[in-house]
Amino acid sequence: MAHTKVALACSVCGSRNYIITANPNRQVRLEVKKFCRYCGKHTLHRETK
Ligand SMILES: [Zn+2]
Repeated sequence: MAHTKVALACSVCGSRNYIITANPNRQVRLEVKKFCRYCGKHTLHRETK
């Protein structure tokens, strides 16, 4: 219960490439540039539940 895990999904192909532990009190939505192995390049990844 103490940890909230969220996935970071590629905004281009929708693949969930990363799992992170998020602060449950944080309300802002993460948007980070990360490497997507399916796209073969760095793309914008967004937090999903
Ligand atoms: Zn992708």
